[in-house]
Amino acid sequence: MELSPKEIERYDRQISISSFGIEAQLKLKRAAVLVAGVGGLGSAAAIYLAAAGVGRLRLVDHGEVELSNLNRQVLYSVEDVGKPKVSAAAKRLRALNPEIEVEAIGERITESNIHGLLKGVDVVVDGQDNFKTRFIINRACVEESKPFVYGAVYGFEGRLMTIIPGKTPCLRCLIPRDPEEPSKVPTIGSLPGLVGSLEALEAIKLITGVGKPFTNKLLIIDGAETAFYIIDVKRDPKCPVCGGK
Ligand SMILES: [Zn+2]
Repeated sequence: MELSPKEIERYDRQISISSFGIEAQLKLKRAAVLVAGVGGLGSAAAIYLAAAGVGRLRLVDHGEVELSNLNRQVLYSVEDVGKPKVSAAAKRLRALNPEIEVEAIGERITESNIHGLLKGVDVVVDGQDNFKTRFIINRACVEESKPFVYGAVYGFEGRLMTIIPGKTPCLRCLIPRDPEEPSKVPTIGSLPGLVGSLEALEAIKLITGVGKPFTNKLLIIDGAETAFYIIDVKRDPKCPVCGGK
């Protein structure tokens, strides 16, 4: 697999990073990422992954675009309201970068379909708004040894942690008990934009091997104060999900 002259031009600013180069770009081209949900987090992550040239993006979301999504879900416009999110998202991403493949799957993520959705992907990016589904993804990623980039927002707060199964704490090590789930997640759109962008950066680092993934620690962003906190996270040897791995 090679890069066309057009691709070399398109990705010039990242290929020009001395630690990145053509080699990392080719790794992105060969890679596949599952964007698990294309809401606020997934919109930002998917845009930057598409722009960076990740060869295959698999988008999964069962929702339709609503007017109240538009304060944060930057993939969509007013004309998309009422349409399935994955098809509107795929159209937008293909327009941004026709060099990549975008797969649109309009399903709700469940215990029974998650393993199929993981097939052939190198990294999973969290675009969820609830922990029930995050834990389904976390467990399947641990079982199949797929890196999972966890991201979440609530109000002015954002969180990020990258999980490499068998090596670093998983989401269950971090959150042993199911948290209370709000019926909707309030937020200022720039918060999921920020966290989603960081998730894309984590995926790019995992795929290319350039830089260092954000593992064994949790990033807490306090958007109200513009403060960033990093907390060390340890693996729980008795974790019911990754303990024996
Ligand atoms: Zn664990």
